[in-house]
Amino acid sequence: AKAEGRNGIAFFEMAMQAGVERRLTMERALARALDAGQLRMHVQPQLDRHGQVTGAEMLMRWPQEDGSMIAPSLFIPVAEETGLIIKLGNWALRQACQAAVRLAQAGHHFALSVNVSPAQFRQPDFAARVRAALNDSGAPAGALVLELTEGLLVDKRDTALARMRELAALGIRFSIDDFGTGYSSLAYLTSMPLYELKIDKSFVDATPHDTSGTAIVQAILGMAGHLGLRVVAEGVETQQQADFLVAHGCDGLQGYLYARPMPLDDLMRWLAQRP
Ligand code: C2E
Ligand code: CA
Ligand code: CA
Ligand code: CA
Repeated sequence: AKAEGRNGIAFFEMAMQAGVERRLTMERALARALDAGQLRMHVQPQLDRHGQVTGAEMLMRWPQEDGSMIAPSLFIPVAEETGLIIKLGNWALRQACQAAVRLAQAGHHFALSVNVSPAQFRQPDFAARVRAALNDSGAPAGALVLELTEGLLVDKRDTALARMRELAALGIRFSIDDFGTGYSSLAYLTSMPLYELKIDKSFVDATPHDTSGTAIVQAILGMAGHLGLRVVAEGVETQQQADFLVAHGCDGLQGYLYARPMPLDDLMRWLAQRP
């Protein structure tokens, strides 16, 4: 039994080692891809109840040589662990500003949402990076919505709040991503300069058939209404979900029902084809 235990531990350590090495290999490849200009940002539109496009979210893509893509759910956590997310995130911000300028030139005046990871937001020079991205591209601050996660607000909340206020004063808007999956309290929400909440896909998936999921969606929509916050639902896949969300006051709908995330050029064509 003892030998078995030892083998068990040895196996576990080997598995851990393999995991660490895999992550390091992936991190190096990701850093190279960023430097070589191989990463892409795809864009997914958000629509209001009338089908008007009111915004779009920028989502990172890592294309491979064989034409496949590594999903962000695989590489973003690695980038977060190794700190590479800061460089990636700054690049994403610049891409969003440039995309906003191109869209505006084509007559499309809506804001682009960018995912900001907690480590990136906590960098002392974050606000300066945002300002530089805006200045260098010529995009107005109103062209950006920064999507933050609730986790950011759990510790060092005062620092996060001060930073949000500083950026909000410039005209940057903030959205809380995956809302309902974290630990936000009502008290936090009212103290923050917020523009929007995004209902997590897991809750959208539950509507309208699952009672407790539906109750959460209704609670979020009711609360946001009272606080004067815009709400966007992510991962809308069926007309039934869209009808339910709209009936309960949801402002924005984002999901495969309307469009998948796509390259900016494709989005421009998609927009041009719409009535
Ligand atoms: P998220 O911010 O919650 O983004 C929404 C995810 O839902 C995206 O996955 C999007 O492609 C997907 N989605 C949208 N509509 C539907 C739908 O109708 N059905 C389904 N099944 N999925 C839908 P994606 O692009 O794979 O991104 C995954 C996560 O990676 C994002 O989740 C975000 O947390 C992170 N991420 C992506 N790009 C960035 C980035 O530039 N910076 C940072 N920090 N994180 C990013
Ligand atoms: Ca997001
Ligand atoms: Ca989200
Ligand atoms: Ca999500």
